[in-house]
This record gives sequence, structure tokens and C-alpha cells, in this order.
Amino acid sequence: MRFLVTAGPTREPIDPVRFLSNRSSGKMGYAIAGAALEAGHEVVLISGPVHLDRPHTAKLIPVSTSDEMFEAVNRQIRDCDVFVMCAAVADYKPANVSATKIKKRSDNFSLQLVPTRDILASHSKTDRSYLVVGFAAETNDLEENAKKKLAEKNLDIVVANDVSGRDSAMESDENEVIILFREGATKKISRAPKKIIARELVNIFANAREKRLTKKMP
Ligand code: C5P
Repeated sequence: MRFLVTAGPTREPIDPVRFLSNRSSGKMGYAIAGAALEAGHEVVLISGPVHLDRPHTAKLIPVSTSDEMFEAVNRQIRDCDVFVMCAAVADYKPANVSATKIKKRSDNFSLQLVPTRDILASHSKTDRSYLVVGFAAETNDLEENAKKKLAEKNLDIVVANDVSGRDSAMESDENEVIILFREGATKKISRAPKKIIARELVNIFANAREKRLTKKMP
């Protein structure tokens, strides 16, 4: 199968030296790419800026902004079987990017932000042939919010993780996830290294894609 995986954060420029971003390390997405390769799948990895070694045999497409990630996904999605949108795409970007460095002033400064395009939602139309997997990073009401995302973005699977508190999934080498399926089932994977969780996720995604081939979309 051909996996298209996105990973890491995006950077939304404010001026030539500043950007808005988040704490995503890219570890979960890279672990999924690595596990998919290990299982014999072909992998295209679209990655935001991270400090990780590239999985050797994956086709790596480095991007920085959410718009670059959007375009890269558009170019790669056509022949994929499983689309895993693991990247922590910024939800907002500055309305205007200053061409010169913004000078410090003594008064308050506010930045106008506009929503970024939702990459996942734009590729989860009903006439797709690939399996669509989203991630939900939540600090509260994990399962409820993930369920909402599954329905609103018309996903096949959503992988939910808690990003609050000391044991947060963000930046950590470990994770604990709840997987919610379109058909209503849920499955929990208890705390384990991201590499171990990734193996199980890749199995689940590949099986779901197989099943989906034999069924018509509702
Ligand atoms: O709505 P929320 O951002 O919480 O949804 C998270 C999921 O949506 C993740 O899979 C993330 O990769 C994806 N996403 C996206 N494009 C955005 C924002 C989030 O594809 N602009």
C-alpha cells in the first residue's frame, strides 16, 4: 500500500525573522512513516520543520507553512491508499506578512490572524478511494471532541491523544491514544513508546483500508 503521512508543526511567518508555530516534535508522524516502511508499504512523508532523522526509504517532502503543506498534499494524494494527517497544522496565520522586520514599540501590538485552510477536511469528500486518518490533540473532553472531529471532517479513523499536563503526548517519546472508527467502534492503546504505538496504528490503518475496498462508502 502507499501511505501518505504528514508530520510535525507548520510555521506561519509574521515577518522575515518571526513565525507562529507549536510544540509538535513530529515524532508520532515519523514513527508511523517508519512503521509503515517496516511493514513493507511505500511511504511519502510530508514534514514540517523537525529535528529528526529521515526514515531512509521514505520519499521526504519538507515544507514549512500550512499553505506549502496544503499544496504538497494536493500533489501527492492522488495515488495514495492511506492518508494519515498527523501534522500539527497551525489553525491561524497572520493576515499580512511584513516584508521587513517589525520594529519594537513601547505600546501594545496586536496581530490579525486568519484561519488556515483545513487540509484534512478538504480531502475527506465521500468520493475518495483512500482511507483518511486524522489526529485529535485535545486538552479536555478527549473522546467527545475526537468524535465530533470524526463526523465533521468525514474521517474514517481519528486517533485522539491528550496533550495536557505532565504526561502530554507533545514532544514526548511516549503516547497513549484512543482510536475512534467511522463505524462507531473505539480502541484504546495504553501508554507506550510512539514507535510501538505506530506499529499497531499502521496495522489498524492497513486492515481498515482492506475492509474499505470491499465496501462502498455510505
Ligand atoms: O480541527 P483540528 O485542528 O483539531 O483537527 C486536527 C486534525 O486536522 C489533524 O489531523 C490535523 O492534521 C488536521 N488539520 C489540517 N489542517 C488544518 C488544521 C488541522 O489538516 N488547517
